[in-house]
Amino acid sequence: MRVCSYELLCDVTLPGNVICTASLKAGTVSAGKYFYVDVSDSGSTSPASIKNLRFVATAQDGATWKITGKGGMFRQPAVSTINTSAASQFFNKTKAHEDVHVSEWETLAAGVPKYFNEDTFYDRIKGFTANTKDKLLNKVVEEYNKYFAEQSAAFEVQFGKTRALEKRAYHAEYDIEPKGVRERSDTWIETEYPE
Ligand SMILES: [Zn+2]
Repeated sequence: MRVCSYELLCDVTLPGNVICTASLKAGTVSAGKYFYVDVSDSGSTSPASIKNLRFVATAQDGATWKITGKGGMFRQPAVSTINTSAASQFFNKTKAHEDVHVSEWETLAAGVPKYFNEDTFYDRIKGFTANTKDKLLNKVVEEYNKYFAEQSAAFEVQFGKTRALEKRAYHAEYDIEPKGVRERSDTWIETEYPE
């Protein structure tokens, strides 16, 4: 997500007891005189992936190198980074946004991660052989490149492209306090994330 402008739908009392009241804007339920404030609420989410491909366990059997186990290869779950200060009242909004991204990458199928599942990937490479260890590991990396493209495509089929991902995440954060503000419109999201 990006730094956001919030439309404050509230009365603002200025020094001298001057009260500015937000009035209705035509065609909306509550709009009119807006107060904008830029809030530095930002975060990011790294998708799930499989790491340490070249640390898969191998063994030499005569002239042939084989895969013998997962070794140091592992699944890295999706991780979010929240840049908004924990002291900010907008921290929880930022977190709610990134939590949506994380939960989609961490979708389960039959109780195990559906995307970038290390068992599924291991099944694809466990029969690989080569005449050098380096060639064997290169085959693993090549297979991962294919797997990565397939997983990304499957994720997109289920959850849509960036624009759809961001709409769900922004809408989730709108439901989190403080609610006396109105965040970006769908039009803004569509402009920010063109497809
Ligand atoms: Zn986002």
